[in-house]
Amino acid sequence: MSAVGEQQRIQILELTDKGDGIGRLDAVPLYVAGALPGEEVEVTLTLVKPNYLHGRLDKVVTASPDRIADFCAHSECGGCQVRPLAYPAQLEYKRELVRRALTQQGLGVEVEPVLGMQSPFAWRNKAQFAVRATDEGAEIGFYRKHSHDLVACDDCAVQDPLHGELLARLRRWMREHEVHPYDEAHHEGDLRHVMTRKGFASGEWMLVLVTRTEQLPAEAELLAALEGLPITTVVHNIHPEPGNRVLGLTNRVLSGEGIITDRLHDLEFVISPLSFYQVNPVQTDMLYGKALEFAGLTGSETVFDLYCGIGTISLFLARQAARVVGIELVPEAIDDARRNAERNGIGNTEFHVGKAEEKVAELYHAGERADVVVIDPPRKGCDKALLDTLVAMAPERLVYVSCHPQSLARDLAWLTARGFVLEAVQPVDMFPHTLHVEAVARLRRA
Ligand code: SAH
Repeated sequence: MSAVGEQQRIQILELTDKGDGIGRLDAVPLYVAGALPGEEVEVTLTLVKPNYLHGRLDKVVTASPDRIADFCAHSECGGCQVRPLAYPAQLEYKRELVRRALTQQGLGVEVEPVLGMQSPFAWRNKAQFAVRATDEGAEIGFYRKHSHDLVACDDCAVQDPLHGELLARLRRWMREHEVHPYDEAHHEGDLRHVMTRKGFASGEWMLVLVTRTEQLPAEAELLAALEGLPITTVVHNIHPEPGNRVLGLTNRVLSGEGIITDRLHDLEFVISPLSFYQVNPVQTDMLYGKALEFAGLTGSETVFDLYCGIGTISLFLARQAARVVGIELVPEAIDDARRNAERNGIGNTEFHVGKAEEKVAELYHAGERADVVVIDPPRKGCDKALLDTLVAMAPERLVYVSCHPQSLARDLAWLTARGFVLEAVQPVDMFPHTLHVEAVARLRRA
């Protein structure tokens, strides 16, 4: 029997869904964060249970050919979990993640190779930083792995380089004007989070400062501190409730219009602070291209775009369909969607605020039918009630865009057991160096 603190040398066999290496010690699985398949590693056991073990990586004895030099100095940060893997190997791993999830649900479809990026750096258009008190004063950064402690990280490789200067100025402003950082444990203090969003095509920047309190401290000094930076609009968001959600529901515009615009392909979009917008614009182009191809439109169809956000997919669909009905939970996003349709001169769309599972049932009972349905739910996937309505409505084609292979596989299993045939699954790498993978599935009515 092994014991905590014992040193072992083992062979790593594969990567788990969490990105940890896994080997075996006397047939018992041993998990080692940071170790890669094919590697021989030395570990110290940190957890010993009858049917699994955890080890801390002490030394890579034989490195995998897929191991690359670390491009990031912030090893404590909780992001970019599969960073040690060369990019092509990351893509292969993500294909395997999708395959595993589908296989676990008994779905035998071929998974296409993951569509990756040419240059997988500075790909994010959105950043969320937490604010905390530290011994050096107010600090701004990302969460440390498995915790809510902060790692200051002004030079994150997946973010825009502007953050270096921006975060330095915000830190100075907080310290000089004694802005009180939020204290999560006691639900006290003022400034909780800072969010940025950049329109890659427009070059416009939105900066959002989130406070627990109604007032943003040292507001005039903040605007002065930002002078000379290319920030298009500054928004104060008020979030008085405890909890992990980053944004509250109330916004005050401090400068600019309170929105930014961006262009995807040849369409222009207005984006407001509370609306969802894909975080990797380069790959969004690929993702939407696939969704559009899978929709197979001829111009005569009625299409439902469910979980439509600000109507991005809806507007691309609308140009190839007779009519598009978009449904989305967040009212601000639907306001954006309507403005976006108008802005792009697209008249054959209508948008509804509500839960997809409720709105689609209402429309169906009122006699509406879709020929093609596109769904793009959050990580938890679709509500069973929505899947049931889709089964009853039986559109010719269904396109399922998903950011979570497990919920995708679960919902696809449900649909394929009830009158749909799964034809293709195309993963797209929207989130390089992380464990996340996006996938688009095409189904047709049996
Ligand atoms: N298709 C869009 C948005 C996808 S993200 C795009 O590509 O940009 C998922 C969206 O679903 C978010 O905008 C979220 O607000 C919305 N949402 C979450 N739960 C929902 C529900 N039950 N019904 C409708 N929309 C929901």
